[in-house]
Amino acid sequence: LFAEDFVAPGRVLLQGRRLRHVLEVHRAAVGDVLVVGLEGGMIGNGRVLLLDGAGLEMAVELGTNPPPPLPVTLVLALPRPKMLKRILITATSMGVKTIYLINSFRVEKSFWKSPLLSTEKLAEPLVLGLEQARDTVLPRVHLRPLFRPFVEDELPAICAGTTALLAHPAGNAPCPRVSPGAVTLAIGPEGGFIPYEAERLQGCGFTAVTLGERILRVEAAVPVLLSRLAPL
Ligand code: SAM
Repeated sequence: LFAEDFVAPGRVLLQGRRLRHVLEVHRAAVGDVLVVGLEGGMIGNGRVLLLDGAGLEMAVELGTNPPPPLPVTLVLALPRPKMLKRILITATSMGVKTIYLINSFRVEKSFWKSPLLSTEKLAEPLVLGLEQARDTVLPRVHLRPLFRPFVEDELPAICAGTTALLAHPAGNAPCPRVSPGAVTLAIGPEGGFIPYEAERLQGCGFTAVTLGERILRVEAAVPVLLSRLAPL
């Protein structure tokens, strides 16, 4: 829920997409109690009071904290928009809070023109991921359409104090099973990072790690890698 959903303290009116979501997915009816979350805040219960043409009105009582974040910063070569949407939902539901969408030689230039990259459109998959995981803290998504200045000027500070892993099928080391602490995880485009880019990343302190001989699609590689790095 967002501040603008509140029509009075503790009273929420749901309309539009989220109203359809609670009706179609949760089959909400008057008297039901829904689990709700506030952006950046707590998880609570919303008792449905009214359901009519104006929307769904709930009395909201806040309770527990959201699940802990996953201490992984994702540095992802920009995938095609449809795939990006699915990856954002999955990564958000798994607790990632910081995502850098970066350029790479094998990222198609047209992907950067996608309307999905507006702040408003990006929020849709992020909110879906939060709803899925009963989380409330929106991830921050940063767009970096220039590879070199990003790697030279920003990436060293992002990696500092973290274990920096470059997911690379040609990597020598197997991907660790559980992260020892915060991780910066770089994942390449459909065609992979070119050797120059892999070298630059390794020059920043990234270790090239592999998941083995099978080459996964980016949308599969992201959850596989995140689940390996998630603290138990
Ligand atoms: N031919 C490309 C290559 O060798 O890099 C394949 C790229 S793969 C479709 C897209 C990205 O997913 C890779 O850049 C890597 O980050 C990740 N990935 C997929 N399979 C992987 C594996 N077996 N080990 C490590 N990373 C993998």
